Amino acid sequence: MRSDHHVQHDQQTLADCVLQKTGVDVARCYQCGKCSAGCPLAVDMDFPPSQIMHLLQLSDFPEFTELALRSHTIWLCLTCQICYARCPMELDIPKLMDALRAESLRLQKVNPKARDILAFHRAFLDSIRYTGRLFEMGQVVDYKIRSRHFLQDLLQAPGMFFKGKLHFLPERIRGRSLLGRMFTRTLKVKEKRP
Ligand code: SF4
Ligand code: SF4
Repeated sequence: MRSDHHVQHDQQTLADCVLQKTGVDVARCYQCGKCSAGCPLAVDMDFPPSQIMHLLQLSDFPEFTELALRSHTIWLCLTCQICYARCPMELDIPKLMDALRAESLRLQKVNPKARDILAFHRAFLDSIRYTGRLFEMGQVVDYKIRSRHFLQDLLQAPGMFFKGKLHFLPERIRGRSLLGRMFTRTLKVKEKRP
């Protein structure tokens, strides 16, 4: 593991990058597998969390870096923290998954199976950004346009509407301009990152 964190980002291994961003040192993982045994989504993942740790330990080799960044796993992770709670080395895997998602996006290596998840994330964040709250109807429309799943779950809509779960107009909070500035500032920081 290299100790100089000021080297150019693209010369770092993915493990170095994760260490710098999250403080999680994957070299401390000794592959006990307790994280994978407790993960509720491990059966659906291409690489359960302990294998993601192993790929990062091998990230001196570009092919393993590629497998980690293109994995479906990083997008399926729910940030439920079970793996973190079980890890005898107290490695914060959910935080690491977050950093991997950001890297995967930055390097345009998002797994094709994760596109709908990404569309949902973006629709959710846009709803919060413009209204300050989750506006379900707006989020659904936004998600359908991004994902192109126009007819999926359409029959659920009337039932949800009559139960008061869907509204045609958003509720807006006060101080939305402040919220907008927070989003703008966060995006600027993100753009400046190497
Ligand atoms: S529980 Fe911790 S030490 Fe064990 S395999 Fe998972 S990350 Fe590694
Ligand atoms: S935080 Fe993610 S990787 Fe960890 S147990 Fe939950 S879903 Fe699995």
